[in-house]
Amino acid sequence: MDKYAVFGNPIKHSKSPWIHRQFAAQTDQDMEYEAILAPVDGFAIALRIFVADGGRGANVTLPFKEEAFQLVEVLTERARLAGAVNTIMVTESGQLLGDNTDGAGLVADLKRHQVTLAGSKVLLLGAGGAARGAIYPLFQAGVRELWVANRTAAKAEQLAMEFARHGNIIGCALDEVHEQDFDIIINSTSASVNNEAPAIDSCVFASSKCAYDMFYQTDATAFLRFAQQHNPEQQCIDGLGMLVGQAAEAFQLWRQATPQVESVLAALRAG
Ligand code: NDP
Repeated sequence: MDKYAVFGNPIKHSKSPWIHRQFAAQTDQDMEYEAILAPVDGFAIALRIFVADGGRGANVTLPFKEEAFQLVEVLTERARLAGAVNTIMVTESGQLLGDNTDGAGLVADLKRHQVTLAGSKVLLLGAGGAARGAIYPLFQAGVRELWVANRTAAKAEQLAMEFARHGNIIGCALDEVHEQDFDIIINSTSASVNNEAPAIDSCVFASSKCAYDMFYQTDATAFLRFAQQHNPEQQCIDGLGMLVGQAAEAFQLWRQATPQVESVLAALRAG
């Protein structure tokens, strides 16, 4: 039986083992998937032991995504641009291939909600790891203009500089976004973790068709409540579908089988 795992710290509440077991059952794959708690300073050793023991692939979550980026021997283009690895595959020749499926999971979830990305103008709030991983997949999906706005403006400006050759991108401070019409507004800040919304002018929602929060919880996040209040017409979507979407991308890479996202997502929502 092929072995897979997710590494993180903490890891107890990870939904990945459950999601991948559902995918495996759906597509009739002979595989197991476990959660491994790696010590904060012991990820490299834990991964090495897992691979030596026959591990075929792994997901990587906080706080090891950047370390995984350094450890792998080959990178996909999207992982290289993301500067982080959330999926590792042991290749036929025994090399560690690093991928990043987070941005693809976001794009897949937006498409699943019939949100049009091609030709759209997008506001991405935040300039951390999740934002960095989303930029290239958003451009690949046809986004016409991307504004990255962050509390610390310099980080957004830095991202805009780095990704300028991939599309039309502007980096600025949160309070510099005024009088712009956006089609989609994506919150990649971690403000939601503390039940807060990033400090943006409510006018940015005026013509928005979709507000997306990468964070998810059982009730609406502060950002989605704020968005809904200022434009009740737009779709408001949380990041649970992105989580399942990034898992589906990883599963596909490992097993060359396409799992059904919808039923797994529905079961997760039902609790
Ligand atoms: P990082 O720590 O790398 O970045 C955090 C970002 O949030 C920074 O840009 C930071 O700004 C900003 N921020 C934090 N607090 C506030 C605040 N109160 N107001 C405004 N901005 C704030 O985190 P990640 O990028 O890794 O993760 C961000 C979010 O995305 C998390 O909520 C995470 O759960 C979610 N996520 C969801 C995934 C999914 O599958 N659904 C996958 C990956 C992430 P500054 O630079 O000024 O500090």
